[in-house]
Amino acid sequence: MEFRQSSKLSEVCYEIRGPVIEQADALEEAGHSVLRLNTGNPALFGFEAPEEILQDMIRMLPQAHGYTDSRGILSARRAVAQRYQTLGLEVGVDDVFLGNGVSELVSMAVQALIEDGDEILIPAPDFPLWTAVTTLAGGKAVHYLCDEQADWYPDLDDMESKITDRTKAVVIINPNNPTGAVYPKEIVEGILGLARRHGLMVFADEIYDQILYDDAVHHSAAALAPDLVVLTFCGLSKTYRVAGFRSGWLVVTGPRQHAKDYLEGLTMLASMRLCANAPAQYAIQAALGGRQSIRELTTPGGRLLEQRNVAWEKLNEIPGVTCVKPKGALYAFPRLDPKVHKIHDDEKFVLDLLLREKIQVVQGTGFNWPTPDHFRILTLPQADDLEAAIGRIGRFLGGYRQ
Ligand code: PLP
Repeated sequence: MEFRQSSKLSEVCYEIRGPVIEQADALEEAGHSVLRLNTGNPALFGFEAPEEILQDMIRMLPQAHGYTDSRGILSARRAVAQRYQTLGLEVGVDDVFLGNGVSELVSMAVQALIEDGDEILIPAPDFPLWTAVTTLAGGKAVHYLCDEQADWYPDLDDMESKITDRTKAVVIINPNNPTGAVYPKEIVEGILGLARRHGLMVFADEIYDQILYDDAVHHSAAALAPDLVVLTFCGLSKTYRVAGFRSGWLVVTGPRQHAKDYLEGLTMLASMRLCANAPAQYAIQAALGGRQSIRELTTPGGRLLEQRNVAWEKLNEIPGVTCVKPKGALYAFPRLDPKVHKIHDDEKFVLDLLLREKIQVVQGTGFNWPTPDHFRILTLPQADDLEAAIGRIGRFLGGYRQ
């Protein structure tokens, strides 16, 4: 008897944890040390969980062994609601759903919305979960281009040209993974204008909304469009460096009366998985109410800012490599000039880099970027480690041909 995977998975692609991982694991088993620059997991790079979060979780643990309300515990939902009230939004505890990370909520939000063949506008490059989840739900991920020449901002004309009568929603990832772009107000308003004109639901993935560098300002889509149904996704994984706790939220804003049926569906999906991990729900109030230590990391003298600077400078020093300066998030998405670096298969490039240098990055096509001329690197390692790793990537590229 042979068990085969469901044919529903045949079109689903998720490269961040893809086949290259197996090779990396095999190398480690063979005694090599692999520098894993593939997942945005701050804990792997020496970032500690804020003390106030740990203390609160430990204190609440004896009371956190039961199922909770399927939308989440009230104190955490209240803390989340207040976070968005300070942006001027009308949000109550009933508008908040807690989940096992943003990932679970993305899956629920998409599943609850689309019929087979419905379309969702998703950026290219994207955080590939959005595309994978849409495909798995029977929908079609339609990618709108972000323009590298324009600081990776979405191309609104391209986006509009891809809207059809099957388009149900548009995804905005801001600040962006993998490009690090932080969108100016006009761009967010431009996307919202399209959503308004074409009756689209807005999915705003704002998990990096506090990870901002230089003069970057985050513009919340929900706050700019109180007249639209916007689902905003955020959580503790990045800003509070506790990705393993699996703690995130989604907030529904705008004219909920136009989404009553949808929200009933979403509530049913939330009930079907009973509830999010309860101890991690207790981390939310402590995180949102406590010292926002992320700012000390992203402002001058801060580790994340310094690492972003090093990554950006050193990548641009490699001949035939250019990189737009990331203004937020934890990644850089450099371009390999096809005239200099003849790469036809970027998964092979990533594998060859892994085998030769024991450095694991993710190929651009893994983010649904259409051409094999980019890769994503984390800006999470210490500056010295990043400099050394990028130096090795540069030397590898110097002699690399496909
Ligand atoms: N959205 C984006 C843009 C991400 O980069 C990530 C994780 O890297 C997620 C969502 C998922 O985060 P979580 O750990 O909350 O599931």
